Amino acid sequence: MGLQRDRSEWQTPEPFLWTLIRNNIPLVIFLGLAAAGMLTVYWFYGAPEEGFAEAVVAAGSGESLSAPIVKQVPPRPVVQRFTQTPGPLHIALIAGHMNHDSGAVCEDGLTEADVNLKVAHSVVANLEARGIRAEVFSEFDPRLQGYSGTALVSIHADSCDYFNEFATGYKISGSPHTDSSQLSICMENEYQAATQLAFHANTITDDMRNYHAFREIAPAVPAIIIEVGFMNLDREMLTTNAHLPAEGIVNGIVCFLATQQSIAEGNAP
Ligand SMILES: [Zn+2]
Repeated sequence: MGLQRDRSEWQTPEPFLWTLIRNNIPLVIFLGLAAAGMLTVYWFYGAPEEGFAEAVVAAGSGESLSAPIVKQVPPRPVVQRFTQTPGPLHIALIAGHMNHDSGAVCEDGLTEADVNLKVAHSVVANLEARGIRAEVFSEFDPRLQGYSGTALVSIHADSCDYFNEFATGYKISGSPHTDSSQLSICMENEYQAATQLAFHANTITDDMRNYHAFREIAPAVPAIIIEVGFMNLDREMLTTNAHLPAEGIVNGIVCFLATQQSIAEGNAP
């Protein structure tokens, strides 16, 4: 009997697939949900209209196979979290004639190059003390080629010969290649205030206007050449009181930097 009952069970087996499903209900539910999820994602990101396959073929006709992105994302404005910081400040000060020649020479051997270098060193030390990076450049310094710092000031002095009582004072010429008017204006005012010298506008030479460094530095770098005084009548101030012309140049540069800062902040200079 027992044998016969067993046989009847063998003869009416449940379908294999049904048994499999019934024994793995959680897995079946999971697969169903996964399929639904994938279909939803496909529907959401899929091509909105006919012609997608053609677009893929057209885009893939080049070297690489690629498809256009069809999901439209509303544009959002990009907000900069931090204000743009300007590049690091750097002022180049040419000590006129340095490493080239002596410039003007006095009868007792005082050279213009010595006067210029002393003033330039004093300016750099003063600027560095204020946290403004500055370096002395020689007259034909290789670093002048394409120099892209904040500003360039070349320091020279006028002849040691005695012409007349008017051969005293300073003069400034700005680069004709870059707008250097703000630097010129600041330097003119501050140099006058520090040294009490007169501004010698009518003796600015073509050598000053066509100064070689103006052509060598990068465009957009303001640059001026200043003749700090005459080595004859202004000699005492240029030698024993060299801190005065240095102070005038430093104040001129600081004034210029303040106007740049003001422009960067959106205020009128
Ligand atoms: Zn010179």
